[in-house]
Amino acid sequence: MRTFVDVAGDDAASTRYRVLAAVRDHGPLSRADLARTTGLAASTITAVTKALAAEGVLSEAEELAEQAVRTGPRGRGLVVDPSLASVAGVDFGFRTVRVAICDLHARVLVTRESRLTERYSSHEGRSVAARLYREAVAAVPAGQGEVVTVGVALPGPIDSGGQRVIGSSVLPGWAETTGAELTAAFGVDAVIENDANLAALGEHTFGAGRDVADSLTVKFHSGIGAGLIVRDRLIGGAGSGEIGHFAVAAEGAVCRCGKRGCLDTFASIPALLAAVAVERNEVELRDVLRATAAGDARTTRIVGDAAELVGDAASRACLLFAPQRVILVGAMADAGDAVLEPFARALRRGLLPEAATPPEIVRGALAERSTVMGAVALALTASGWLAAGG
Ligand SMILES: [Zn+2]
Repeated sequence: MRTFVDVAGDDAASTRYRVLAAVRDHGPLSRADLARTTGLAASTITAVTKALAAEGVLSEAEELAEQAVRTGPRGRGLVVDPSLASVAGVDFGFRTVRVAICDLHARVLVTRESRLTERYSSHEGRSVAARLYREAVAAVPAGQGEVVTVGVALPGPIDSGGQRVIGSSVLPGWAETTGAELTAAFGVDAVIENDANLAALGEHTFGAGRDVADSLTVKFHSGIGAGLIVRDRLIGGAGSGEIGHFAVAAEGAVCRCGKRGCLDTFASIPALLAAVAVERNEVELRDVLRATAAGDARTTRIVGDAAELVGDAASRACLLFAPQRVILVGAMADAGDAVLEPFARALRRGLLPEAATPPEIVRGALAERSTVMGAVALALTASGWLAAGG
């Protein structure tokens, strides 16, 4: 396996470690920049970089075209060779699972996606994902290094430190699933984290939040969740960001979590499908998005009211830490202005009227890949190839 420590060694004071860490964190770097950054002598830099280039660890970056989505270092100079190793992201979503394999610059090499039955169990989810993962690995171009870590997004409360799913009500069938079980399924180190947290990490690292230090990402999806980035770091912890369980009505239905009147019982995708389906039989999410795009009055009202509730919940989260940007992601963000406009209106209404710098309110830049790219960022961080908070 070629994690950062496997390649750099575990002595952070060694010249090899210092040079590799500087290139990882600040690359592309010229040899002169590298000497300035590390404080090492030019002759030492020359010797170390020559050895690392001969091993295929460092390479010269070509000038990359400006991209809307930055996934690799830009400019000329030395970079960590992207083909040295790979990482994978796995996103367990609403009835689907998505797998992406990326190089060390987070460029997507292969993706695979499969449908799952509604309320799929941990066993079904793991076996389908492991099959997709094996297919994806088989399709990775020759010469690309092996996957060192898999980041896994799950739509429920996660104890990140203990690497286990908390409870059983929000994610039925996944109670007490652990990172170790995912490691066994994929045959490579796996790290689990909540899906909204990873959507926030994905947008912060590669998407709409990459140029601000403090952002709130709201995932409007099978459940409603939020991920907080504060001073470039994901605020994790057991069950953080669960705004879907903010109470919005004292007389509402009892939520899957056991509380009454949670936001999820009004605005999650299952709740929206149930609300739209009153006069029809089965309704799919794509029917709801299509009817909203066509301006169907009833569906637009249901979706707009839900978006207002989500925006109001987001405003309460904003009052706690005043983010510079609020990023809306998830399948309902695909409805465009029919969702973004009522979401933003309710969010602004909930902020302090005299707020000096209200947050910008934008849609995510990674579309349906926010979460899986967050899982990729988690895998890069866990394997040491992306500095935490970078
Ligand atoms: Zn709840």
